[in-house]
Amino acid sequence: MPDLPYKRIIMHWTVSGEGPDAIKYDRKFYHGLILKDGSFVRAVTLPANIPLKWGLPHDYAPHTASLNSWSIGLSFVGMAAGKPGVMGDLSAAQWRSGVLIAAAWAHRFGIPVQLPYDNKPKGGTEDSRGILGHCEVESALRIAQSGKWDPWYPMTDWPWTHSQPLAITAKDLQPVHRAIGDQFRAEVAAVVARLQAGETVAMPSGFDPLAN
Ligand SMILES: [Zn+2]
Repeated sequence: MPDLPYKRIIMHWTVSGEGPDAIKYDRKFYHGLILKDGSFVRAVTLPANIPLKWGLPHDYAPHTASLNSWSIGLSFVGMAAGKPGVMGDLSAAQWRSGVLIAAAWAHRFGIPVQLPYDNKPKGGTEDSRGILGHCEVESALRIAQSGKWDPWYPMTDWPWTHSQPLAITAKDLQPVHRAIGDQFRAEVAAVVARLQAGETVAMPSGFDPLAN
């Protein structure tokens, strides 16, 4: 049995800048933050989003609407590039660190590397475990997220978005979000396979897979 019964990891991209003040504010909302250079900053402690008998502890990380219980929130920083209205870039180092950290936690907590799904309204089944971007929560699990599109923004220099039209509405973006999310999960799955084989995988600076 894993030491904490987490069901999923939800990836985010905060509207913050990259400075220490922004990180100080943002750390209340997530379990960890990934800086531009790929290094990791620990935030809310991991056990805080495991519900107790009476509900979530008061200091839980409120990263996703109506889906914080049993959900780890891991966020890239710097979406606002430190300036209001100016879009930042998600760096390659941030992406790679996100893959490594999600893989380490998936391995530790036994979280399957899949897009969670809820097909119950169509007479099917549901499995809310997995790894997904905030922007995938609403389409995958039917839990409204007020148009959130983070962190899978279709940047033109991401090779896997080239085949997708750069769309502007949340609905048009769904296949793009799915394509980027699938790419992320494929890379996470490759790292999990190495961890399961007992391989030592170098982790990002500041990240200890066993720390809470
Ligand atoms: Zn988010």
